[in-house]
Amino acid sequence: MTTIRQQDFIDSIADALQFISYYHPKDYLDALAVAYHAEESPAAKDAMAQILTNSRMCAQGHRPLCQDTGIVVAFVRVGMDVRWEDASMSITEMVNAGVRKGYLLPDNILRASVVADPAGKRKNTGDNTPAVVHFDIVPGNKVDVRIAAKGGGSENKSKMVMLNPSDDLVEWVVNQLPHMGAGWCPPGMLGIGIGGTAEKAVLLAKESLMENIDMTELKARGPKNRVEELRIEIFDKVNALGIGAQGLGGLATVLDVKILDYPTHAASKPVAIIPNCAATRHVHFELDGSGAATFTPPKLEDYPDVHWHAAADARRVNLDTVTRADLAQWQPGETLLLSGKLLTGRDAAHKRIVDLLAKGEKLPPGVDFNGRFIYYVGPVDPVRDEVVGPAGPTTATRMDKFTETMLAQTGLIGMVGKAERGKVAIEAIKKHAAVYLMAIGGAAYLVSKAIRSSRVVAFADLGMEAIYEFEVEDMPVTVAVDSQGRSVHEIGPAEWKKRIGLIPIKQV
Ligand code: SF4
Repeated sequence: MTTIRQQDFIDSIADALQFISYYHPKDYLDALAVAYHAEESPAAKDAMAQILTNSRMCAQGHRPLCQDTGIVVAFVRVGMDVRWEDASMSITEMVNAGVRKGYLLPDNILRASVVADPAGKRKNTGDNTPAVVHFDIVPGNKVDVRIAAKGGGSENKSKMVMLNPSDDLVEWVVNQLPHMGAGWCPPGMLGIGIGGTAEKAVLLAKESLMENIDMTELKARGPKNRVEELRIEIFDKVNALGIGAQGLGGLATVLDVKILDYPTHAASKPVAIIPNCAATRHVHFELDGSGAATFTPPKLEDYPDVHWHAAADARRVNLDTVTRADLAQWQPGETLLLSGKLLTGRDAAHKRIVDLLAKGEKLPPGVDFNGRFIYYVGPVDPVRDEVVGPAGPTTATRMDKFTETMLAQTGLIGMVGKAERGKVAIEAIKKHAAVYLMAIGGAAYLVSKAIRSSRVVAFADLGMEAIYEFEVEDMPVTVAVDSQGRSVHEIGPAEWKKRIGLIPIKQV
């Protein structure tokens, strides 16, 4: 019988969440480095360079890899020969106490992203609780925890289907990818659950993402069973789609495909996909009664020798003087370095703005979009001498339905976000000769270094969703939809899908 103290469990959860907020797992770093060196698409290679550079900066600065510091998911296996000392809480309450402690740590405060009353007021709970906790009671005298902080952008792209037993599941999986867009911030992993019942398949998909990346080893030794065959087949077919890092077109869309399966009903073939993004954040620990868990960070030499710098020929843009005539010169895929003032706004702020406009009311003082750009972001609060915490872009498609109103009624001329735009937004951009620029999802700390000042100008009650004014200097972005409505997320993958068949396999 092992005795485990409640406080050791809580402290271990808090420490694990701090640890994964700024350290990528080594297997992810290794796999991304391989993909970076093999990449032939300049835009995708640049995106991966930003993600790798951001990763090293976060490890050194102990600040979050991404502004979305995730919703906590824990898989807890409790040994039958474990007794708890001083335990006044349930295990779920202990996990939540650890989440609260980890997310509110003053030295590295993490963004609280969880909202209660999801179909109603959607009020932020303020401390990122509650976590989603899954249990198993198993033989043994240890407590085993696998814990992740799952980004919303990648979670939103999850898919589930009940296939017929004779249906081709590889075909179904591969067909989903082009419709998932780039809001899941590839390159990352696909977690796939097959079998059981509907809810079991989804749970298996999530649990599979807790495993290390080992596709290179799997390919080297060859598959030993049907699941491993499927992993390789799906990996190759998905990467042949040419979607690439951030959907810009390229060779690496997934770094691995994980599959867990389970027996199912003779009439059923449930299949679920959950993607994991560039902010791969998970860790495993065990408690054996000897105290709180300890975590070993990657060494600095584990980080690939990749240091992103803006290309010397990147176009510099002054946001305070830019005109529509300037916008018309910008080409899809072109890198820009933005300097000057930007307003921010994401889901909740857009809803309020559009509601105010519908009622014929004025926007709050300081919210003047005339001739200006909006950045879709919900930053992490600053610590120490920062002006703002990590502040990478959020998925732009969620703002698509507001775009026509924003462009037609506020004088806005451009937007900055991540991933592609939908048809309705692209039509509005073309109609108003506006532009959409993308920053790299998963490079939030690097992006935040371009922000020289930050102040809240409206909707302070929305917390990270408030409208801020940022002053930026040389903020790196890519022209994703130009003023004629040409989208790099359509052009890039189509080109790379064609080229992939022509590119010989590189040994790295
Ligand atoms: S990398 Fe992208 S999907 Fe992942 S947490 Fe960050 S913004 Fe969200």
